[in-house]
Amino acid sequence: LKDRLKDPSLLKTASFVDGGWLDSSDFFEVRNPADRSLVAKVADVGAGGAHRAVDAAARAFASWKQVSVYERARLVRRWHDLIVEHAADLGAIITAEMGKPLKEARGEVVYGAGFVSWSAEEAMRVHGETLSTPFPGSRGWTLRQPVGVVACITPWNFPSAMITRKCAPALAAGCTVVVKPAPETPLSALALAELAKRAGFPAGVFNVICGEAETLGPVMTKADAVRMIGFTGSTEVGKLLMRQAADGVKRVSLELGGNAPFLIMDDADVEAAADGVMASKFRAAGQTCVSANRIIAQEGVADALIKALRVRVEKLKVGSGFEERTDIGPLIHDEAVERVAALVDDARERGAKIITGGQSLAGKMGGAFYAPTLIEGGSDVSLSMASNEIFGPVASVYRAADEAEMIRLANDTRYGLAAYLYTRDVGRVHRMSEALEFGMVGVNAPMVGSPATPFGGMKESGIGREGGKWGVEEFTELKFVLLGGV
Ligand code: ADP
Repeated sequence: LKDRLKDPSLLKTASFVDGGWLDSSDFFEVRNPADRSLVAKVADVGAGGAHRAVDAAARAFASWKQVSVYERARLVRRWHDLIVEHAADLGAIITAEMGKPLKEARGEVVYGAGFVSWSAEEAMRVHGETLSTPFPGSRGWTLRQPVGVVACITPWNFPSAMITRKCAPALAAGCTVVVKPAPETPLSALALAELAKRAGFPAGVFNVICGEAETLGPVMTKADAVRMIGFTGSTEVGKLLMRQAADGVKRVSLELGGNAPFLIMDDADVEAAADGVMASKFRAAGQTCVSANRIIAQEGVADALIKALRVRVEKLKVGSGFEERTDIGPLIHDEAVERVAALVDDARERGAKIITGGQSLAGKMGGAFYAPTLIEGGSDVSLSMASNEIFGPVASVYRAADEAEMIRLANDTRYGLAAYLYTRDVGRVHRMSEALEFGMVGVNAPMVGSPATPFGGMKESGIGREGGKWGVEEFTELKFVLLGGV
Protein backbone atom coordinates (compact mmCIF):
# COMPACT_ATOMS: atom_id res chain seq x y z
CA LEU A 1 0.00 0.00 0.00
CA LYS A 2 2.87 2.39 0.84
CA ASP A 3 3.94 2.38 -2.80
CA ARG A 4 0.55 3.55 -3.94
CA LEU A 5 0.57 6.65 -1.72
CA LYS A 6 1.94 10.07 -2.64
CA ASP A 7 2.31 10.73 1.08
CA PRO A 8 3.22 7.43 2.78
CA SER A 9 3.38 9.16 6.16
CA LEU A 10 -0.43 8.96 6.19
CA LEU A 11 -0.05 5.26 6.97
CA LYS A 12 -0.12 4.95 10.75
CA THR A 13 -0.41 1.85 12.89
CA ALA A 14 -0.37 3.35 16.40
CA SER A 15 -3.39 4.96 18.06
CA PHE A 16 -3.66 8.74 18.27
CA VAL A 17 -4.11 9.84 21.88
CA ASP A 18 -3.61 13.25 23.48
CA GLY A 19 -1.89 14.66 20.41
CA GLY A 20 0.67 11.83 20.08
CA TRP A 21 0.98 8.28 18.76
CA LEU A 22 0.36 5.52 21.28
CA ASP A 23 1.92 2.16 20.40
CA SER A 24 1.55 -1.27 21.94
CA SER A 25 3.19 -4.68 21.80
CA ASP A 26 -0.24 -6.20 21.08
CA PHE A 27 -1.48 -5.85 17.55
CA PHE A 28 -4.08 -7.06 15.09
CA GLU A 29 -3.88 -7.60 11.34
CA VAL A 30 -5.62 -5.68 8.59
CA ARG A 31 -6.10 -7.73 5.43
CA ASN A 32 -7.07 -6.74 1.91
CA PRO A 33 -10.34 -8.59 1.20
CA ALA A 34 -9.57 -8.75 -2.53
CA ASP A 35 -6.60 -11.11 -2.09
CA ARG A 36 -6.38 -11.68 1.69
CA SER A 37 -2.88 -10.13 1.73
CA LEU A 38 -1.58 -8.41 4.85
CA VAL A 39 -1.97 -4.63 4.64
CA ALA A 40 -0.73 -3.68 8.11
CA LYS A 41 -0.35 -4.74 11.72
CA VAL A 42 -2.08 -2.22 13.94
CA ALA A 43 -1.43 -1.65 17.64
CA ASP A 44 -4.16 -2.79 20.05
CA VAL A 45 -4.01 -0.25 22.86
CA GLY A 46 -6.47 -2.12 25.08
CA ALA A 47 -8.49 -0.76 28.00
CA GLY A 48 -5.49 1.28 29.22
CA GLY A 49 -5.31 3.14 25.92
CA ALA A 50 -9.05 3.78 25.97
CA HIS A 51 -8.85 5.26 29.48
CA ARG A 52 -5.96 7.50 28.43
CA ALA A 53 -7.91 8.73 25.43
CA VAL A 54 -11.05 9.48 27.46
CA ASP A 55 -9.00 11.29 30.12
CA ALA A 56 -7.21 13.33 27.46
CA ALA A 57 -10.51 14.24 25.81
CA ALA A 58 -11.99 15.26 29.17
CA ARG A 59 -9.00 17.49 29.96
CA ALA A 60 -9.06 19.02 26.50
CA PHE A 61 -12.79 19.72 26.71
CA ALA A 62 -12.27 22.21 29.54
CA SER A 63 -10.38 24.54 27.20
CA TRP A 64 -11.80 23.53 23.80
CA LYS A 65 -15.32 24.56 24.80
CA GLN A 66 -13.96 28.03 25.61
CA VAL A 67 -12.23 28.47 22.25
CA SER A 68 -14.23 30.83 20.05
CA VAL A 69 -16.34 29.09 17.47
CA TYR A 70 -14.52 31.08 14.79
CA GLU A 71 -11.24 29.49 15.81
CA ARG A 72 -12.79 26.02 16.10
CA ALA A 73 -14.34 26.42 12.66
CA ARG A 74 -11.00 27.58 11.24
CA LEU A 75 -9.30 24.37 12.43
CA VAL A 76 -12.15 22.18 11.19
CA ARG A 77 -11.95 23.96 7.83
CA ARG A 78 -8.20 23.30 7.72
CA TRP A 79 -8.89 19.61 8.40
CA HIS A 80 -11.31 19.69 5.45
CA ASP A 81 -8.70 21.24 3.13
CA LEU A 82 -6.11 18.62 4.10
CA ILE A 83 -8.61 15.78 3.55
CA VAL A 84 -9.44 17.09 0.07
CA GLU A 85 -5.76 17.63 -0.74
CA HIS A 86 -5.03 13.99 0.18
CA ALA A 87 -8.25 12.51 -1.25
CA ALA A 88 -6.40 10.19 -3.64
CA ASP A 89 -4.27 8.68 -0.86
CA LEU A 90 -7.20 8.38 1.54
CA GLY A 91 -9.14 6.65 -1.23
CA ALA A 92 -6.33 4.15 -1.82
CA ILE A 93 -6.26 3.37 1.91
CA ILE A 94 -10.01 2.68 1.87
CA THR A 95 -9.70 0.39 -1.16
CA ALA A 96 -6.81 -1.52 0.41
CA GLU A 97 -8.56 -2.19 3.70
CA MET A 98 -12.21 -2.61 2.68
CA GLY A 99 -12.16 -3.33 -1.03
CA LYS A 100 -14.51 -0.82 -2.66
CA PRO A 101 -13.49 0.40 -6.14
CA LEU A 102 -11.05 3.31 -6.08
CA LYS A 103 -13.45 5.70 -7.79
CA GLU A 104 -16.06 5.00 -5.09
CA ALA A 105 -13.45 5.28 -2.36
CA ARG A 106 -12.37 8.72 -3.58
CA GLY A 107 -16.03 9.66 -3.84
CA GLU A 108 -16.48 8.66 -0.21
CA VAL A 109 -13.58 10.85 0.88
CA VAL A 110 -15.00 13.87 -0.93
CA TYR A 111 -18.52 13.13 0.37
CA GLY A 112 -17.14 12.83 3.90
CA ALA A 113 -15.13 16.03 3.52
CA GLY A 114 -18.39 17.79 2.60
CA PHE A 115 -19.59 17.23 6.16
CA VAL A 116 -16.40 18.77 7.50
CA SER A 117 -16.73 22.06 5.61
CA TRP A 118 -20.48 22.16 6.23
CA SER A 119 -19.97 21.68 9.98
CA ALA A 120 -17.34 24.43 10.12
CA GLU A 121 -19.87 26.84 8.62
CA GLU A 122 -22.95 25.63 10.43
CA ALA A 123 -21.37 25.68 13.89
CA MET A 124 -21.03 29.46 13.55
CA ARG A 125 -24.81 29.69 13.19
CA VAL A 126 -25.59 27.80 16.40
CA HIS A 127 -27.21 30.35 18.69
CA GLY A 128 -29.68 30.80 21.52
CA GLU A 129 -32.91 32.78 21.67
CA THR A 130 -34.53 35.26 24.03
CA LEU A 131 -37.83 34.09 25.44
CA SER A 132 -40.79 35.76 27.02
CA THR A 133 -41.23 34.92 30.71
CA PRO A 134 -44.32 34.98 32.94
CA PHE A 135 -42.56 36.72 35.85
CA PRO A 136 -42.49 40.55 36.07
CA GLY A 137 -38.97 41.97 36.08
CA SER A 138 -37.38 38.91 34.56
CA ARG A 139 -35.70 37.89 31.32
CA GLY A 140 -35.14 34.44 29.85
CA TRP A 141 -32.86 33.11 27.17
CA THR A 142 -31.40 29.88 25.84
CA LEU A 143 -27.82 28.82 25.25
CA ARG A 144 -26.56 26.03 23.06
CA GLN A 145 -23.47 24.51 24.62
CA PRO A 146 -21.34 21.52 23.61
CA VAL A 147 -22.42 18.20 25.14
CA GLY A 148 -18.92 17.23 26.29
CA VAL A 149 -16.72 14.25 25.43
CA VAL A 150 -18.23 12.21 22.59
CA ALA A 151 -17.33 8.55 22.00
CA CYS A 152 -17.74 7.55 18.35
CA ILE A 153 -17.86 3.92 17.25
CA THR A 154 -17.78 3.53 13.49
CA PRO A 155 -18.20 0.76 10.90
CA TRP A 156 -16.04 -0.51 8.05
CA ASN A 157 -18.37 0.15 5.09
CA PHE A 158 -17.60 3.89 5.00
CA PRO A 159 -14.29 3.95 6.89
CA SER A 160 -13.74 7.66 6.27
CA ALA A 161 -17.14 9.33 5.86
CA MET A 162 -18.73 7.80 8.96
CA ILE A 163 -15.94 9.37 11.02
CA THR A 164 -16.09 12.83 9.46
CA ARG A 165 -19.90 12.87 9.55
CA LYS A 166 -19.82 12.47 13.34
CA CYS A 167 -16.59 14.13 14.36
CA ALA A 168 -16.67 17.32 12.31
CA PRO A 169 -19.95 18.61 13.77
CA ALA A 170 -18.91 17.44 17.25
CA LEU A 171 -15.57 19.27 17.07
CA ALA A 172 -17.04 22.40 15.53
CA ALA A 173 -19.74 22.49 18.22
CA GLY A 174 -17.05 22.42 20.90
CA CYS A 175 -17.02 18.76 21.90
CA THR A 176 -13.91 16.61 22.11
CA VAL A 177 -13.93 13.16 20.57
CA VAL A 178 -12.64 9.63 21.02
CA VAL A 179 -13.16 7.46 17.93
CA LYS A 180 -13.00 3.69 17.82
CA PRO A 181 -12.98 2.57 14.18
CA ALA A 182 -13.95 -0.91 13.02
CA PRO A 183 -11.07 -3.40 13.33
CA GLU A 184 -11.33 -4.07 9.58
CA THR A 185 -10.61 -0.42 8.68
CA PRO A 186 -8.40 1.34 11.25
CA LEU A 187 -6.01 2.82 8.68
CA SER A 188 -8.53 5.28 7.25
CA ALA A 189 -9.27 6.52 10.78
CA LEU A 190 -5.59 6.89 11.64
CA ALA A 191 -4.90 8.78 8.40
CA LEU A 192 -7.68 11.20 9.37
CA ALA A 193 -6.00 11.55 12.77
CA GLU A 194 -2.68 12.40 11.11
CA LEU A 195 -4.45 15.10 9.09
CA ALA A 196 -6.20 16.41 12.22
CA LYS A 197 -2.77 16.64 13.84
CA ARG A 198 -1.46 18.62 10.86
CA ALA A 199 -4.55 20.84 10.96
CA GLY A 200 -3.44 21.86 14.44
CA PHE A 201 -6.20 20.75 16.81
CA PRO A 202 -4.97 21.04 20.41
CA ALA A 203 -3.85 17.77 22.07
CA GLY A 204 -6.73 15.60 23.29
CA VAL A 205 -9.42 17.25 21.18
CA PHE A 206 -9.46 14.42 18.62
CA ASN A 207 -8.37 10.87 19.55
CA VAL A 208 -8.50 7.58 17.67
CA ILE A 209 -8.08 4.29 19.52
CA CYS A 210 -7.77 0.84 17.98
CA GLY A 211 -8.24 -2.56 19.57
CA GLU A 212 -10.90 -5.10 20.46
CA ALA A 213 -14.43 -3.71 20.49
CA GLU A 214 -15.43 -5.75 23.54
CA THR A 215 -12.57 -4.21 25.54
CA LEU A 216 -12.59 -0.60 24.31
CA GLY A 217 -16.38 -0.28 23.97
CA PRO A 218 -17.31 -0.61 27.66
CA VAL A 219 -14.59 1.87 28.70
CA MET A 220 -16.09 4.39 26.28
CA THR A 221 -19.71 3.81 27.27
CA LYS A 222 -19.10 3.68 31.02
CA ALA A 223 -16.61 6.50 31.63
CA ASP A 224 -18.23 9.35 33.58
CA ALA A 225 -16.53 11.93 31.39
CA VAL A 226 -18.17 10.63 28.21
CA ARG A 227 -21.52 12.40 27.73
CA MET A 228 -22.58 11.04 24.36
CA ILE A 229 -22.18 7.90 22.24
CA GLY A 230 -22.31 8.29 18.47
CA PHE A 231 -22.57 4.95 16.70
CA THR A 232 -23.05 3.63 13.20
CA GLY A 233 -23.32 -0.12 12.80
CA SER A 234 -25.60 -3.06 13.36
CA THR A 235 -28.89 -2.81 15.25
CA GLU A 236 -27.69 -5.56 17.57
CA VAL A 237 -24.58 -3.68 18.71
CA GLY A 238 -26.53 -0.40 18.78
CA LYS A 239 -28.95 -1.89 21.29
CA LEU A 240 -26.07 -3.15 23.41
CA LEU A 241 -24.45 0.29 23.46
CA MET A 242 -27.77 1.93 24.31
CA ARG A 243 -28.14 -0.41 27.28
CA GLN A 244 -24.59 0.38 28.42
CA ALA A 245 -25.21 4.11 27.98
CA ALA A 246 -28.42 3.91 30.02
CA ASP A 247 -26.54 3.53 33.31
CA GLY A 248 -24.95 6.94 32.92
CA VAL A 249 -28.00 8.42 31.11
CA LYS A 250 -25.68 9.33 28.27
CA ARG A 251 -27.05 10.74 25.06
CA VAL A 252 -27.00 8.33 22.12
CA SER A 253 -27.04 8.98 18.42
CA LEU A 254 -27.49 5.70 16.56
CA GLU A 255 -27.40 4.95 12.84
CA LEU A 256 -28.34 1.29 12.65
CA GLY A 257 -29.41 -1.30 10.11
CA GLY A 258 -31.93 -0.81 7.36
CA ASN A 259 -34.17 -2.87 5.12
CA ALA A 260 -34.82 -0.35 2.38
CA PRO A 261 -37.84 -0.92 0.14
CA PHE A 262 -37.47 0.35 -3.44
CA LEU A 263 -40.97 0.83 -4.84
CA ILE A 264 -41.56 1.13 -8.56
CA MET A 265 -45.08 2.12 -9.58
CA ASP A 266 -46.85 1.39 -12.87
CA ASP A 267 -46.47 4.98 -13.97
CA ALA A 268 -42.69 5.14 -13.31
CA ASP A 269 -39.97 5.69 -15.88
CA VAL A 270 -38.68 2.09 -15.83
CA GLU A 271 -35.25 2.83 -17.29
CA ALA A 272 -34.66 5.56 -14.71
CA ALA A 273 -35.89 3.22 -11.98
CA ALA A 274 -33.49 0.49 -13.15
CA ASP A 275 -30.61 3.00 -13.05
CA GLY A 276 -31.74 3.99 -9.58
CA VAL A 277 -31.77 0.38 -8.36
CA MET A 278 -28.24 -0.12 -9.70
CA ALA A 279 -26.94 2.98 -7.90
CA SER A 280 -28.68 2.13 -4.65
CA LYS A 281 -28.08 -1.62 -4.66
CA PHE A 282 -24.58 -2.11 -6.00
CA ARG A 283 -22.61 0.76 -4.46
CA ALA A 284 -19.95 -0.68 -2.11
CA ALA A 285 -21.03 -4.12 -3.43
CA GLY A 286 -24.36 -3.63 -1.66
CA GLN A 287 -22.74 -3.11 1.74
CA THR A 288 -24.53 0.06 2.79
CA CYS A 289 -27.35 0.51 5.29
CA VAL A 290 -29.39 2.44 2.69
CA SER A 291 -28.98 -0.16 -0.09
CA ALA A 292 -32.24 -1.26 -1.74
CA ASN A 293 -33.02 -4.49 0.10
CA ARG A 294 -36.49 -5.24 -1.28
CA ILE A 295 -37.25 -4.05 -4.80
CA ILE A 296 -41.03 -4.08 -5.07
CA ALA A 297 -42.47 -3.54 -8.52
CA GLN A 298 -46.12 -3.00 -9.36
CA GLU A 299 -47.36 -5.80 -11.68
CA GLY A 300 -47.61 -3.58 -14.77
CA VAL A 301 -43.86 -2.78 -14.80
CA ALA A 302 -42.36 -5.84 -13.11
CA ASP A 303 -41.35 -7.71 -16.29
CA ALA A 304 -39.89 -4.63 -17.95
CA LEU A 305 -37.97 -3.76 -14.80
CA ILE A 306 -36.47 -7.24 -14.45
CA LYS A 307 -35.40 -7.15 -18.10
CA ALA A 308 -33.79 -3.73 -17.68
CA LEU A 309 -32.01 -4.84 -14.50
CA ARG A 310 -30.73 -8.05 -16.05
CA VAL A 311 -28.90 -6.17 -18.80
CA ARG A 312 -27.31 -3.87 -16.26
CA VAL A 313 -26.35 -6.53 -13.68
CA GLU A 314 -24.74 -8.74 -16.32
CA LYS A 315 -22.48 -5.86 -17.36
CA LEU A 316 -21.00 -5.36 -13.88
CA LYS A 317 -17.28 -6.13 -13.65
CA VAL A 318 -16.11 -7.87 -10.52
CA GLY A 319 -12.51 -7.48 -9.38
CA SER A 320 -9.98 -5.75 -7.20
CA GLY A 321 -10.93 -2.19 -6.36
CA PHE A 322 -7.55 -1.07 -7.66
CA GLU A 323 -8.43 -2.13 -11.22
CA GLU A 324 -9.78 0.79 -13.22
CA ARG A 325 -12.74 -1.09 -14.72
CA THR A 326 -14.01 -2.70 -11.51
CA ASP A 327 -17.63 -1.99 -10.56
CA ILE A 328 -17.96 -4.54 -7.77
CA GLY A 329 -15.12 -5.15 -5.35
CA PRO A 330 -14.91 -7.89 -2.74
CA LEU A 331 -17.13 -8.09 0.32
CA ILE A 332 -15.48 -7.20 3.61
CA HIS A 333 -14.37 -10.77 4.40
CA ASP A 334 -15.06 -14.44 3.66
CA GLU A 335 -17.70 -14.73 6.40
CA ALA A 336 -19.68 -11.98 4.67
CA VAL A 337 -19.60 -14.03 1.46
CA GLU A 338 -20.89 -17.07 3.35
CA ARG A 339 -23.71 -14.99 4.87
CA VAL A 340 -24.81 -13.72 1.47
CA ALA A 341 -24.52 -17.21 -0.04
CA ALA A 342 -26.79 -18.59 2.71
CA LEU A 343 -29.43 -15.94 1.96
CA VAL A 344 -29.35 -16.78 -1.74
CA ASP A 345 -29.51 -20.53 -1.01
CA ASP A 346 -32.58 -19.93 1.16
CA ALA A 347 -34.25 -18.04 -1.71
CA ARG A 348 -33.33 -20.77 -4.19
CA GLU A 349 -34.72 -23.51 -1.94
CA ARG A 350 -37.98 -21.62 -1.57
CA GLY A 351 -38.39 -21.52 -5.33
CA ALA A 352 -37.23 -17.97 -6.13
CA LYS A 353 -35.81 -17.61 -9.64
CA ILE A 354 -32.10 -16.76 -9.90
CA ILE A 355 -31.98 -14.71 -13.08
CA THR A 356 -28.25 -14.10 -13.07
CA GLY A 357 -25.35 -14.70 -10.67
CA GLY A 358 -26.12 -16.60 -7.48
CA GLN A 359 -22.71 -17.97 -6.60
CA SER A 360 -19.70 -17.22 -4.47
CA LEU A 361 -16.51 -16.38 -6.39
CA ALA A 362 -14.35 -16.58 -3.27
CA GLY A 363 -12.58 -19.77 -4.35
CA LYS A 364 -12.18 -18.86 -8.01
CA MET A 365 -10.97 -15.29 -7.51
CA GLY A 366 -8.88 -15.73 -4.35
CA GLY A 367 -10.72 -13.08 -2.34
CA ALA A 368 -14.08 -12.34 -0.72
CA PHE A 369 -16.02 -12.01 -3.98
CA TYR A 370 -19.67 -12.76 -4.67
CA ALA A 371 -21.22 -12.63 -8.13
CA PRO A 372 -23.60 -9.72 -8.85
CA THR A 373 -26.98 -11.39 -8.61
CA LEU A 374 -30.55 -10.72 -9.70
CA ILE A 375 -33.35 -12.73 -8.12
CA GLU A 376 -37.04 -12.76 -8.84
CA GLY A 377 -38.79 -13.42 -5.54
CA GLY A 378 -42.30 -13.24 -6.99
CA SER A 379 -44.73 -12.34 -4.24
CA ASP A 380 -42.88 -14.41 -1.62
CA VAL A 381 -41.83 -11.85 0.93
CA SER A 382 -41.14 -14.62 3.47
CA LEU A 383 -37.70 -15.14 1.91
CA SER A 384 -34.97 -14.68 4.46
CA MET A 385 -33.43 -11.92 2.31
CA ALA A 386 -36.66 -9.93 2.47
CA SER A 387 -36.48 -9.56 6.23
CA ASN A 388 -32.69 -9.49 6.72
CA GLU A 389 -30.23 -6.90 5.48
CA ILE A 390 -28.52 -8.57 2.49
CA PHE A 391 -25.31 -6.46 2.62
CA GLY A 392 -24.08 -7.91 -0.66
CA PRO A 393 -24.46 -7.48 -4.44
CA VAL A 394 -27.80 -9.27 -4.60
CA ALA A 395 -30.92 -7.57 -5.95
CA SER A 396 -34.24 -9.25 -5.25
CA VAL A 397 -37.43 -8.15 -7.02
CA TYR A 398 -40.93 -8.77 -5.67
CA ARG A 399 -44.33 -8.10 -7.23
CA ALA A 400 -47.32 -6.32 -5.73
CA ALA A 401 -50.72 -5.27 -7.01
CA ASP A 402 -51.38 -1.72 -5.92
CA GLU A 403 -50.35 1.27 -3.84
CA ALA A 404 -51.96 0.01 -0.63
CA GLU A 405 -50.24 -3.38 -0.83
CA MET A 406 -46.90 -1.76 -1.61
CA ILE A 407 -47.10 0.53 1.40
CA ARG A 408 -48.10 -2.39 3.60
CA LEU A 409 -45.17 -4.50 2.39
CA ALA A 410 -42.71 -1.62 2.60
CA ASN A 411 -43.60 -0.84 6.21
CA ASP A 412 -43.67 -4.50 7.25
CA THR A 413 -40.22 -4.40 8.85
CA ARG A 414 -38.74 -3.41 12.19
CA TYR A 415 -36.36 -1.11 10.35
CA GLY A 416 -37.06 2.41 9.06
CA LEU A 417 -33.96 4.00 7.54
CA ALA A 418 -34.29 4.76 3.81
CA ALA A 419 -37.05 4.04 1.29
CA TYR A 420 -37.19 4.77 -2.43
CA LEU A 421 -40.18 5.47 -4.62
CA TYR A 422 -40.34 5.78 -8.39
CA THR A 423 -43.50 7.36 -9.77
CA ARG A 424 -44.48 10.29 -11.97
CA ASP A 425 -47.82 10.90 -10.28
CA VAL A 426 -47.53 13.92 -8.01
CA GLY A 427 -50.45 12.84 -5.81
CA ARG A 428 -48.75 9.50 -5.26
CA VAL A 429 -45.50 11.24 -4.35
CA HIS A 430 -47.23 12.95 -1.45
CA ARG A 431 -49.48 10.06 -0.34
CA MET A 432 -46.74 7.48 -0.40
CA SER A 433 -43.84 9.52 1.00
CA GLU A 434 -46.08 10.46 3.93
CA ALA A 435 -47.18 6.84 4.51
CA LEU A 436 -43.69 5.32 4.42
CA GLU A 437 -42.32 4.78 7.95
CA PHE A 438 -38.74 5.65 7.07
CA GLY A 439 -36.44 8.51 8.06
CA MET A 440 -35.52 9.27 4.45
CA VAL A 441 -37.50 8.82 1.25
CA GLY A 442 -35.85 9.18 -2.16
CA VAL A 443 -38.48 9.92 -4.79
CA ASN A 444 -37.08 9.28 -8.26
CA ALA A 445 -33.70 9.58 -6.54
CA PRO A 446 -31.48 6.71 -5.38
CA MET A 447 -29.14 8.60 -3.01
CA VAL A 448 -30.43 10.42 0.02
CA GLY A 449 -27.34 11.53 1.97
CA SER A 450 -25.71 14.96 1.77
CA PRO A 451 -24.02 17.34 4.21
CA ALA A 452 -26.99 19.72 4.21
CA THR A 453 -29.79 17.19 4.81
CA PRO A 454 -30.85 15.04 7.77
CA PHE A 455 -29.71 11.40 7.66
CA GLY A 456 -31.17 8.92 10.12
CA GLY A 457 -33.79 6.33 10.80
CA MET A 458 -37.07 5.52 12.52
CA LYS A 459 -38.02 2.37 14.45
CA GLU A 460 -35.06 0.02 15.04
CA SER A 461 -32.92 1.90 12.51
CA GLY A 462 -31.81 4.46 15.03
CA ILE A 463 -32.09 7.64 17.02
CA GLY A 464 -30.97 11.11 15.99
CA ARG A 465 -29.93 12.68 12.72
CA GLU A 466 -26.60 13.42 11.08
CA GLY A 467 -26.14 16.24 8.57
CA GLY A 468 -27.51 19.74 8.22
CA LYS A 469 -28.28 21.95 11.18
CA TRP A 470 -29.70 18.89 12.95
CA GLY A 471 -26.34 17.12 12.80
CA VAL A 472 -24.66 19.99 14.64
CA GLU A 473 -27.50 20.45 17.16
CA GLU A 474 -27.12 16.80 18.18
CA PHE A 475 -23.82 17.72 19.84
CA THR A 476 -25.25 20.59 21.89
CA GLU A 477 -27.19 20.90 25.12
CA LEU A 478 -30.05 23.39 25.20
CA LYS A 479 -29.78 25.42 28.39
CA PHE A 480 -32.35 27.88 29.73
CA VAL A 481 -31.28 30.88 31.79
CA LEU A 482 -33.80 32.91 33.79
CA LEU A 483 -32.72 36.31 35.08
CA GLY A 484 -34.85 37.85 37.83
CA GLY A 485 -34.86 41.26 39.53
CA VAL A 486 -34.22 43.23 36.36
P1 ADP B 1 -20.78 -5.17 11.38
O1 ADP B 1 -21.50 -6.42 11.74
O2 ADP B 1 -21.21 -4.56 10.12
O3 ADP B 1 -19.29 -5.25 11.51
P2 ADP B 1 -20.96 -3.99 13.97
O4 ADP B 1 -22.16 -3.34 14.55
O5 ADP B 1 -20.54 -5.29 14.53
O6 ADP B 1 -21.26 -4.10 12.43
O7 ADP B 1 -19.72 -3.01 14.00
C1 ADP B 1 -19.80 -1.61 13.99
C2 ADP B 1 -18.81 -1.06 14.99
O8 ADP B 1 -19.19 -1.50 16.28
C3 ADP B 1 -17.37 -1.52 14.79
O9 ADP B 1 -16.49 -0.46 15.14
C4 ADP B 1 -17.25 -2.65 15.80
O10 ADP B 1 -15.92 -2.88 16.21
C5 ADP B 1 -18.07 -2.08 16.93
N1 ADP B 1 -18.53 -3.07 17.91
C6 ADP B 1 -18.88 -4.37 17.71
N2 ADP B 1 -19.20 -4.96 18.87
C7 ADP B 1 -19.05 -4.04 19.85
C8 ADP B 1 -19.21 -4.02 21.27
N3 ADP B 1 -19.60 -5.12 21.93
N4 ADP B 1 -18.96 -2.87 21.95
C9 ADP B 1 -18.56 -1.76 21.28
N5 ADP B 1 -18.39 -1.71 19.95
C10 ADP B 1 -18.63 -2.82 19.24
